[in-house]
Amino acid sequence: MQQELKRPTVYQFRVGDCVITNVLEGYFHRGDLHPFVATNAKASEVEALAAKYRLPYPELEHNFVPSIIETPDKLVVIDPGFGAAAPAATTGWFMQGLQDAGYAAGDVNVVLISHCHPDHIGNISKDGVPTFPNAEIVIGQKEFEFWKQGKGISEMRQPTLALFQKVVLPLEEHLTMIQPGDEVVSGLVALDSSGHSAGHLVFQLTSAGQRILFLNDATPHYVASFANPDWHFAMDDDPEKAAVSRRNVLEFAVSEAIPVIGFHLPFPSVGYVERQGDGYEFRPASYQFNLPVS
Ligand SMILES: [Zn+2]
Repeated sequence: MQQELKRPTVYQFRVGDCVITNVLEGYFHRGDLHPFVATNAKASEVEALAAKYRLPYPELEHNFVPSIIETPDKLVVIDPGFGAAAPAATTGWFMQGLQDAGYAAGDVNVVLISHCHPDHIGNISKDGVPTFPNAEIVIGQKEFEFWKQGKGISEMRQPTLALFQKVVLPLEEHLTMIQPGDEVVSGLVALDSSGHSAGHLVFQLTSAGQRILFLNDATPHYVASFANPDWHFAMDDDPEKAAVSRRNVLEFAVSEAIPVIGFHLPFPSVGYVERQGDGYEFRPASYQFNLPVS
């Protein structure tokens, strides 16, 4: 019998006056590092990078990590995972993580959606009933309109369209639409990072002089997306545009020295960005966030 191994699924830390909780919603094990993280590079290049970082090849673990932000007056969830739409037993853990963090579904004031891929919207509602009964659902207008129109959607994304029609569209009347530059709650601002999807957003939180950037799906792999931002991720809807957006947001994080969280970075999915050659490097946080701010 295979033993279920324990692993951490909840990590909390402070940014200014806010408490951030990253939750491991689950993971996939895949066997296609190439071409998954680099459809426009040679397998040998990806294999060499994996070896440099002591990563196996071609196997990988792809994490799903929603974030909860407790501000002094609001509880915000960013992209609450697959939820009921979980495709495997190794996913769909968000509600347990929320509870382990000390929150209930009814406590959530805002559900903030970066984009409409399944791992980000599956947990918004089930059978037309919102998962978070008291939450305002906030979504980028461009992203919503793209999926609502449903035109020019690739074969690969047809299941995504079907899920959008099932879990997001029925709530249309109740959605709050935002534009890049809009403030979602005090200190939390949406920024354009389109390419991974038509209206993919990243978010910047500023609280008591501290900042953190939620990269969401701008950086799907913690080595490949940073070392080679121009590599095309297989799940990018517009890979060329995604690469430009990826470079822009990484350059912003470096030049402003803002720590980052990424939805698909290895749990607990928080760290720092440094310049490295032509690209960047993700340096996972260790104890930095556990110390009191001096
Ligand atoms: Zn994703």
